[in-house]
Amino acid sequence: MTKLYDNHNHSQFSFDGKKASVETSARAAAAAGLAGLCFTDHCDFYVPPMKAEHEHLVPEQFDIRAQQAEIDRVRNLIPEVEIFKGIEIGLEERSRDSIRKVLAENEFDEILASVHYLDDTDPFWGGYYQGKDWKTAYGHYLETLYKEMTWLGDFDIAGHFDYVARYAGYPECSIFYKDFPDIFDSILKYLAENGKALEINTKTYQDYNGRTPVLDRNILLRFRELGGEAISLGSDSHYPERVGENLPLYAEFIRSCGFRHTAHFSRRKLILTPVI
Ligand SMILES: [Zn+2]
Ligand SMILES: [Zn+2]
Repeated sequence: MTKLYDNHNHSQFSFDGKKASVETSARAAAAAGLAGLCFTDHCDFYVPPMKAEHEHLVPEQFDIRAQQAEIDRVRNLIPEVEIFKGIEIGLEERSRDSIRKVLAENEFDEILASVHYLDDTDPFWGGYYQGKDWKTAYGHYLETLYKEMTWLGDFDIAGHFDYVARYAGYPECSIFYKDFPDIFDSILKYLAENGKALEINTKTYQDYNGRTPVLDRNILLRFRELGGEAISLGSDSHYPERVGENLPLYAEFIRSCGFRHTAHFSRRKLILTPVI
C-alpha cells in the first residue's frame, strides 16, 4: 500500500482552526492509516479590510514556538505517525520583508507558499471577483502566485493554485491548462527546475454552492513533461474529520498521469515516496 503524507493541515494555532488540534488531527491521521502529516498554520502579515460579518475571522500570525512545542509533545504521544512542523506563508507583495524575517528566524520541516489576498481583497469574501470575468480573475491569481513565489524562492510547495476557483460565482468553476498555458508553463517550469512541489489541494474539489471544481490532468501531464516530479498531497484540513481526505484517490490520479512518487518534506529536504 502506498504510504501517504498529508502535507497541508491547520491546527488550533490557525485563526480559523479552532475546531482542530494537533493531537486530534494526529490521532485522525493515525486512524486513517496515513504515514505522516504536516501542520501548516496560517501566517499572513497583511489582511485586506474585511466585511463586518467576517471580522471575527481576521487572520493573524500563529505562535510558532507554541505550535512547535505542541508538535513535540504529540510526537511522543503518537509515535506511529510522522508529524512535521510547517507554515503556510501568505504571499503578499507588501509583506515581503516580514516574510523573509519569519522564515529566517525559525526552522521548519516544510514551507508552503500560498496566495490568499490580492488586489486588497480576498477571494474568500467575494470582493475579488467584482468587475472581473473568470479568465481575468483566475489568470491574475496565477500570475500573482508566480510573481510572489519566484520572488520568495525559499519555499518547498506551491499551495492551492486553484484557491481562486473555489469561491468564484462563474459557471467556469475549474482551472484548465488550455485556458492559461503560458502562466502555467512559467509556474510549472520554475517548480520543476528548482525541485519544488506542486500541491494537489483536495479541499478545492468539493461542492462550493453547487459548483465542484475538478483537477485538470493536463496540468500534471505538462508538469511531468517539463521535468517535474514532486507532487504534494494536502487536505487543507481545518478539523480532524478532513485529515487525509481523498488522498488515496489523488495518489491514484497522479499515478495515472505517469508520476511514480508523492512528495513530502522533512527539515526542508524533499522526500519522494513511491506510489504503488
Ligand atoms: Zn491556504
Ligand atoms: Zn491552508
